[in-house]
Amino acid sequence: MNERERHGRCLCGAVGLSLKPDSLHLGACHCSMCRKWGGGPLIAVESSVPPRITGEEHLRVYASSDWAERGFCDRCGSHLFYRLRDGSLYAIPVGLIDDEQGWTLRQEVFIDEKPPFYAFANDTEQLTEAQLFAQHSAE
Ligand SMILES: [Zn+2]
Ligand SMILES: [Zn+2]
Repeated sequence: MNERERHGRCLCGAVGLSLKPDSLHLGACHCSMCRKWGGGPLIAVESSVPPRITGEEHLRVYASSDWAERGFCDRCGSHLFYRLRDGSLYAIPVGLIDDEQGWTLRQEVFIDEKPPFYAFANDTEQLTEAQLFAQHSAE
């Protein structure tokens, strides 16, 4: 798919992102790391092309695992991306993006780590951790 470029920024505006989403489908991650990071589930846009970033001097990157890193603004703390260390995949929180039109929540992952006190009403594909890894190793 060839989606048009979307633009986003952090809460204070110091860091801006321009990205080409792989699609207009959003994924939600309920894993305990995402929920610690953001205080709730992460709802993100995926891009296999790195976003263009302005205000990079305010970008800080935290290595959250052996395979992934999480970026944030050092002025306001907004979360900017989750990325695989090899740069092959970025997940960018949809809340950063100015244009709210056209997105559909399609998938929920780590559904087996979702706590019982919330649930999305959207009609989504739901994958457990084991199903997610099985799908990726099959590719
Ligand atoms: Zn900021
Ligand atoms: Zn997660």
